[in-house]
Amino acid sequence: MLKSISQYFELLKLSGLDDLFLKSDFNGVNLSQNMDLASLEEKYKNCTKCPLSQGRIKFVYGEGSSTAKLMLIGEGPGAEENKTGKPFVGSAGQLLTKMLNAININRKDVYIANIVKCRPPGNRNPLPSEISACIKYLEEQIEIIQPKILLLMGKVAAQTLLKNGYNMTELRSKEFKYRGIQTFVSYHPAALLYHPQWKKPAWIDLQKIQKIYQKIGK
Ligand code: SF4
Repeated sequence: MLKSISQYFELLKLSGLDDLFLKSDFNGVNLSQNMDLASLEEKYKNCTKCPLSQGRIKFVYGEGSSTAKLMLIGEGPGAEENKTGKPFVGSAGQLLTKMLNAININRKDVYIANIVKCRPPGNRNPLPSEISACIKYLEEQIEIIQPKILLLMGKVAAQTLLKNGYNMTELRSKEFKYRGIQTFVSYHPAALLYHPQWKKPAWIDLQKIQKIYQKIGK
């Protein structure tokens, strides 16, 4: 007879059964909710499941509130992120912080992550094989945080999670559900740096999100 609940969890871990629990859906009782994002980051930080590990200086797991109502998802770390281990800290990240401030959302109240956790060389798009090697980490983060709103920044994040063939105009004009979560798509902040004419439509997208964020409360 096991003496405590912690012994029971330990046994699941040793037997590998905890992975099965991590795959359960949002409606099920799920051990991952009790797991700490920081310990998962520590557990995965030396991952070598795909070749992107070869160019890694720092693993960029994600950052923000583990109880965030809004979760933002980009594509992959850039050069600055690879150096610091934090998502969205380069010029695109600074723009993202300003965009959030503009809709009265403090960056520390949201959670920010990427589709892949190690930098693709030269900031190229992650390959399908790299995405499929890495996506479990993001799925697990979403499952733990259980945000009320997802904002997918850019086509790679959108196509990976929504798996549809829509172009950016179509993606931005629709509302989606990802595992029951209200999901929106807008431009990646890096794209806005190269295409300033997209800032106006991005601002419209943000205002839509601000209204919904205010409705659900912080
Ligand atoms: S990108 Fe993801 S799967 Fe690939 S090595 Fe990094 S953490 Fe592992």
